[in-house]
Amino acid sequence: MSSKTLDQFLNVNLEELKGKGLYNIIDPLESANGPVIKINGKELINLSSNNYLGLATDDRLKKAAEEAISQFGVGAGAVRTINGTLKLHVELEEKLAEFKQTEAAIAYQSGFMCNMAAISAVMDNKDAILSDELNHASIIDGCRLSRAKIIRFNHSDMEDLRAKAKKAKESGQFNKIMVITDGVFSMDGDIAKLPEIVKIAEEFDLFTYVDDAHGSGVLGGGAGTVKHFGLSDKIDFQIGTLSKAIGVVGGYVAGKQNLIDWLKVRSRPFLFSTSLPPADVAASTKAIEILMDSTELNERLWENANYLKAGLERLGFDIGHSETPITPCIIGDEVKTQEFSKRLYEEGVYAKSIVFPTVPQGTGRVRNMPSAAHTKEMLDQALSIYEKAGKELGII
Ligand code: PMP
Repeated sequence: MSSKTLDQFLNVNLEELKGKGLYNIIDPLESANGPVIKINGKELINLSSNNYLGLATDDRLKKAAEEAISQFGVGAGAVRTINGTLKLHVELEEKLAEFKQTEAAIAYQSGFMCNMAAISAVMDNKDAILSDELNHASIIDGCRLSRAKIIRFNHSDMEDLRAKAKKAKESGQFNKIMVITDGVFSMDGDIAKLPEIVKIAEEFDLFTYVDDAHGSGVLGGGAGTVKHFGLSDKIDFQIGTLSKAIGVVGGYVAGKQNLIDWLKVRSRPFLFSTSLPPADVAASTKAIEILMDSTELNERLWENANYLKAGLERLGFDIGHSETPITPCIIGDEVKTQEFSKRLYEEGVYAKSIVFPTVPQGTGRVRNMPSAAHTKEMLDQALSIYEKAGKELGII
């Protein structure tokens, strides 16, 4: 018999979320997550996936995955330190280090797990972490898990960071102090001020941790935000995910050899969770090779992003201050934002609404993620649907 207390807790809270319109309804895709998707038999132009370069459906990655399955099977069979390290994992990590211009790299089962793993392996309750207030949930959870003192600074506010770094350093209370930031912030598409962060880090002897989930494959010709600023030798931890521009699944840390050696003996998901499956590893390696060989996909991504942004602005939408392909359409009112996203869906565009508490109250937006795989025709069609729905709802 199930617990009545648990049932009551679940039912009361689920009803409350549903009442507030905060319960996520998930529509399964009946197609690959490409530039056009199918949901409930309906074809939609997809402006919501993180598949920035279209690699999730690329034939070269599929072939690499198929070959890996036929040689190594579908599962790695053990954790990395028992015998779940296939030569494919080593090849991937070597490629990642080359890609990020670091001495070494270590792969994890997801970007989320990577942050949980890396932060808690290095920081403890005698340390402090200066964390941008808009950092991703996995950074927040990784910081909490480490038991270090978490000091939040105002979003990209370098004066606030400097003041808090100074105070933490001068308190003499902490063994180590780290500053941690997203490379690209996923809700507004703005880029972290890494050159200033590095300067502050040097002044107060902090080490630096950049989660570049949305920058890799996108900025710096594809190599990411750190490369974009020419800071490859100044950032201690370069985190990435294999699930967005790379198109597969997994996460990684790139950095100095001693850091990677430490993570291999101390980060718990590496020690206690089965390693990435062969197909994913081989497909990810292939994706990185493609990115290192040519900037063609990266250029197409930017071309499409600039085209969509210019079109939305011309129509009169507020697209915020994004510096990357992430293109918010800021509506403001939560109910209207959801209504707008629904109208776009009915007309054939899949662009998710994002409202409080994910973004501040009154800044509801529909977030668009253009990709290298969209054609101009798809973007034109999306823009004309935006125009129709925007005029209907009095947004433009
Ligand atoms: N870090 C950031 C900044 C992210 O945006 C995301 C993805 N939502 C993650 C980590 C988690 O990555 P993954 O999806 O590979 O677990």
